[in-house]
Amino acid sequence: MRAAVLREHGEPLDVTEVPDPTCDSDGVVVEVEACGICRSDWHSWMGHGEWANDAVPSGQILGHEPAGRVVEVGEDVETIAEGDRVALPFNLACGSCGYCRTGHGNVCTGDHPNALGFELSAQGAFADLVHLPSADYNAIRLPESVSPTDVAALGCRFMTAYNALDARAGLRAGQWVAVHGCGGVGLSAIQVANVLGARVVAVDVRDSALDAATDLGADAVVNGSAEDPVDAIRGLTDGGAHVSLDALGVAETCRNSVRSVRPRGSHVQVGLTTEAEKGNVSLPTDWMTRHEVSFLGARGMPPTSADDLLSLLASDAVDPGSLVTKTVSLDEVPGRLAAMTDYDTVGVEVMVP
Ligand SMILES: [Zn+2]
Ligand SMILES: [Zn+2]
Repeated sequence: MRAAVLREHGEPLDVTEVPDPTCDSDGVVVEVEACGICRSDWHSWMGHGEWANDAVPSGQILGHEPAGRVVEVGEDVETIAEGDRVALPFNLACGSCGYCRTGHGNVCTGDHPNALGFELSAQGAFADLVHLPSADYNAIRLPESVSPTDVAALGCRFMTAYNALDARAGLRAGQWVAVHGCGGVGLSAIQVANVLGARVVAVDVRDSALDAATDLGADAVVNGSAEDPVDAIRGLTDGGAHVSLDALGVAETCRNSVRSVRPRGSHVQVGLTTEAEKGNVSLPTDWMTRHEVSFLGARGMPPTSADDLLSLLASDAVDPGSLVTKTVSLDEVPGRLAAMTDYDTVGVEVMVP
């Protein structure tokens, strides 16, 4: 098969012929119909994460937001059949540890690959074929009516936004949520917030991203290069957002997000940090203590929550396909990753092999 392989951090991915994946007894092989291109791919490509012993190695096939059709099924798989349409979560789980068994497979601690497209034992989906381990637990079965690009746009971003705002932050109807950074996960968060009945303030420094946020239903937008986003949010929300989400992962947006919540509010960190922060951001902890502000992390979504998300999709309450601004070929993926260095992408781009 053909695949886009990381050879050296920061050098263009090598689109080349590689061996087809082999199928584990509990796994399935999926023919990729579409795969979202995500800022996490860019972080991997740049070699970020070494500060957490988490840099993606040479030889890695990137791509972690695929949808496709099952073409091979391991002998121990019981619930997935050849020909099924599935989405693959990037957060892979073992299906049997205590976290998996209690519905928190996104933080699985089992001895098992845990990040599709980020480790050599879980090669990614910028490829013709991709392998999914522990398929009974991990596979998200899809109705035939959903288009593959829509599902790829669901990607890690939509699932992450849903898990972050609903399960982690407990966002409720009528509350204010501030979304810092209107890339793929930020725009997904705006849609999720709308479905949950919350009101949204979107923050970015690019007018094009703020226009997209408005189109998707943000109630107010703040250009962070023109005004102080914390003051602006406090004014718009009568004292601060109930929930604020940092979708970007740089120190300034993280601190702005924390400081834009009201007393007893919650900040949710979704974006991973860059070379500048190396995973460490200083925070106003005295102020957070004084106002009982919570700092939450959110990673992907437990596969066991997929039914809730799919019923939202079926209700037409969300339209992830509207986030897709571009579909590209496998050969174009290296160039589109490079474009992310200059924040030269808007919305979600999807690879269709
Ligand atoms: Zn597990
Ligand atoms: Zn992603």
